[in-house]
Amino acid sequence: MNTEHVIGLSIKVHEQDNVAVVVSAKGLRAGSRLQDGTLLVDDVAHGHKVALVDLSANDEIVRYGEVIGYAQQAIGRGRWIDESLVRMPQAPAMGDLPIATRQAPVFEPLTGRTFEGYRNADGSVGTKNILGITTSVQCVAGVINHLAQRIRQELLPKYPQVDDVVALNHSYGCGVAIDAPAAIIPIRTLQNITRNPNFGGEVMVVGLGCEKLDPQRLIPPECATGIAACSPILTLQDTVLTGFNAMIAALLKTAEEHLVRLNQRHRETCPASDLVIGLQCGGSDALSGLTANPAVGYAADLIVRAGGSVMFSEVTEVRDAIHLLTPRVIDESVGQALLQEMIWYDRYLQLGEADRSANTTPGNKQGGLANIVEKALGSIAKSGTSAIVDVIGPGERIRRKGLTFAATPASDFICGTLQLAAGMNLEVFTTGRGTPYSLAMAPVIKVATNSTLANRWHDLIDLDAGPIATGEKNIAEVGEDLFALILDVASGRKQTCADRLGLHNDLVLFNPAPVT
Ligand code: CA
Repeated sequence: MNTEHVIGLSIKVHEQDNVAVVVSAKGLRAGSRLQDGTLLVDDVAHGHKVALVDLSANDEIVRYGEVIGYAQQAIGRGRWIDESLVRMPQAPAMGDLPIATRQAPVFEPLTGRTFEGYRNADGSVGTKNILGITTSVQCVAGVINHLAQRIRQELLPKYPQVDDVVALNHSYGCGVAIDAPAAIIPIRTLQNITRNPNFGGEVMVVGLGCEKLDPQRLIPPECATGIAACSPILTLQDTVLTGFNAMIAALLKTAEEHLVRLNQRHRETCPASDLVIGLQCGGSDALSGLTANPAVGYAADLIVRAGGSVMFSEVTEVRDAIHLLTPRVIDESVGQALLQEMIWYDRYLQLGEADRSANTTPGNKQGGLANIVEKALGSIAKSGTSAIVDVIGPGERIRRKGLTFAATPASDFICGTLQLAAGMNLEVFTTGRGTPYSLAMAPVIKVATNSTLANRWHDLIDLDAGPIATGEKNIAEVGEDLFALILDVASGRKQTCADRLGLHNDLVLFNPAPVT
């Protein structure tokens, strides 16, 4: 974004900013002085804002060089700007935004960076070798969980090349308005998750037999061309299956056929251009936009330079910074697609009688984020500086190399589920407040925005971006560290903390259509 400027234990991001963020781990006491001479009138907690000038009521409050709100009342220089003193501005209107107006930065290609991955018949590359069991309805979840446990105990020891078995359980499939227009989102999400590169083109679908979502719809087109290996759909209501043990025996037999083939896969050296990286944040704080997200943005630019694919997402966290993104799209059609995703989500929130203030959590606010505008400005730093080459809708597959906006809700587990469907083979996740979030289907590298969290959660956080706030490291150094870590994790040379501990969240579908 902009060159940061460290002032003692506070950071002012942009020269036009009239606030600074306190980055001292324990906050600053009243009476402390900032490097620009500002004398603190109040105690100010870590991550919270200080007025650098005397603000009158209704004055603009500027951070990242952008208006994050208006002063509810006069705020003297050196005072703590509590969120209650900040009136949120309107979201940028979308009728008159500049589209594709920015000259894309000219990047020198980055060559020679590789990882060890599992090459698939369709050209994609897996970072793990997993048997994914696809399900058409929630009714079968208990049986599939039992099955996965049995596979782990009885079969996996015989197939050492296979990392894991994962039940792709979810809440969809029946009791839903399957023909409603918006039902396409959960349906295509399930269709595309099966095609994630980490499942190696092995397709095993289990249904019940009477559900609304026909399991046949979950068979990907690659099965017809032989690029994917599909077993016949198993339905638990099949009359040849008498009792639970017969069901499990049939399921184990099919699973083993897939395991035999998965066990023949081996890692091979692949260029970094085969990476498909999903970016996300959760449990953000005011340092997210100063440390972790800019470092992730730097790494994102490196991956784009290496010819790889990067997705950023979370519509409600880019909506208020949309005027900074539309200039970065490559052409008018990508710009219109981006705006359509924003318009769709504005309407979706309206239908639920909510608005954009529904984002920002109590934790965000305790972490110093006044509102969604401030959060969004920090959030988009993850996208780096590359041109936006494509926009995909929720549950769609990524189509292009380079930087794509994959429209998803900001909800961590829903965004992660949709990025899996898009085809990511690794996710990078930044957090300031801390979350144990991870996924079983693809590695999730967690980056802390501050060292206090990274130290407290020393066995849950993979990379600490906190040294950026103290000036011990710069954004480029942490960005390079992250890129190196991505290559190591993608190669299986390093495990993420969550994978080591076996901490994985459930798939959660985005279903904006009615349930019945
Ligand atoms: Ca999120």
